[in-house]
Amino acid sequence: ASGAASPRRVLLKLSGEVFGGGKVGVDPEVVRGIARQIADAVREGIEVAVVVGGGNFFRGAELQQKGMDRSRADYIGMLGTVMNCLALQDFLEKEGIDTRVQTAITMGQVAEPYIPRRAIRHLEKGRVVIFGAGAGMPYFSTDTVSAQRALECRCDMVLMSKSGVDGVYDADPRTDPDARKLEHVTFEEALRTGLKVVDAAAFSLCMDNKLPMVVFGMEGDGNITRALRGERIGTLVSA
Ligand code: UDP
Repeated sequence: ASGAASPRRVLLKLSGEVFGGGKVGVDPEVVRGIARQIADAVREGIEVAVVVGGGNFFRGAELQQKGMDRSRADYIGMLGTVMNCLALQDFLEKEGIDTRVQTAITMGQVAEPYIPRRAIRHLEKGRVVIFGAGAGMPYFSTDTVSAQRALECRCDMVLMSKSGVDGVYDADPRTDPDARKLEHVTFEEALRTGLKVVDAAAFSLCMDNKLPMVVFGMEGDGNITRALRGERIGTLVSA
């Protein structure tokens, strides 16, 4: 369509931890609330892709500390993310939003395999695409996968939702009372100062490919919808 601006397309990273409401497993009321917020944005015409973490079930690094082989532990972690994806899909569909789950580890009964061009097609049709099983590779994180999927599916930006913190700070706000929240930070600064809110691989992938990132707190009324719309919340991380 000549002249018509293309709709906003964003990738939202949801950490698994929030899905459990602080416990192991899925808290349906939490997921329902998240789905409602995503649905509000989708109804406004915003194209939304989602990467879901799995920290509410298993983290590979933690299982490794307890004596498991790292790679196998990471596969367990990846499988955990898929359960969160299905829960989110369920509540999005209850909101009347068409949704597809695509996983990096093939499991045809519950999800499509990850096929980038098909994912883009779904987004163009207004479907929410939920990416599960991370990258399908041990030693990766869902933060890094978020940057990769956003790049491959041509999203305008990555929105990293965080729980318990509302943006990027110049020091750890949990331990340093003088820590200040930053409105804007460059990828270089974020990497140089070793800010841990998002992992370094995700920062550097975005930096190398000039993909802006917003780090924001998911708590608070409608914060996810606001971030999806492009309102200025949290911290903008860019070149
Ligand atoms: N994981 C992995 N490769 C990936 C993505 C995830 O091995 O590409 C594993 C890893 O063990 C990780 C777990 O899946 O600890 C859950 O993902 P993550 O910790 O990123 O979830 P979140 O912290 O966002 O809930």
